[in-house]
Amino acid sequence: MSSIFSKIIAGEIPSYKVAEDDSFFAFLDINPLKKGHTLVIPKKEVDYIFDIDDMQLAEMVVFAKKVAKSIEKVIPCKRIAMTVIGLEVPHAHIHLIPLDEINDVNFAKPKLQFDRSEFNEIAIKILDMFNSL
Ligand code: AMP
Repeated sequence: MSSIFSKIIAGEIPSYKVAEDDSFFAFLDINPLKKGHTLVIPKKEVDYIFDIDDMQLAEMVVFAKKVAKSIEKVIPCKRIAMTVIGLEVPHAHIHLIPLDEINDVNFAKPKLQFDRSEFNEIAIKILDMFNSL
């Protein structure tokens, strides 16, 4: 059985893509804590991030760095937070969250809602920036 995120990579489930290379994929979190909240995932499905082999994990962080640089050029914020939770979806992922105050990374607070066109607009801007870096 493949994870919901593997189905996203395969294009079987839609997502708001913000970045991709041969090994990794990034897309907007559908229940964002902040505008531009993004998930970075490996294309090779592994549940727990600390089961990813060393080289792949290092490459994932470098990929996430480029995604973060793209987000911060598009979404005004102090910096981008990088967090890992992983209690909900068993496919390793890094959360990248535009950060202005500590409560922006409070996963217990109510999530924001955007309509499809708003998600699309944010994703296209970040994807364009990613492709230009
Ligand atoms: P966690 O596993 O606790 O890090 O949480 C999983 C995250 O994935 C949550 O923030 C969800 O909003 C997000 N999520 C789950 N399904 C989707 C989806 N189909 N598209 C985008 N984000 C998703």
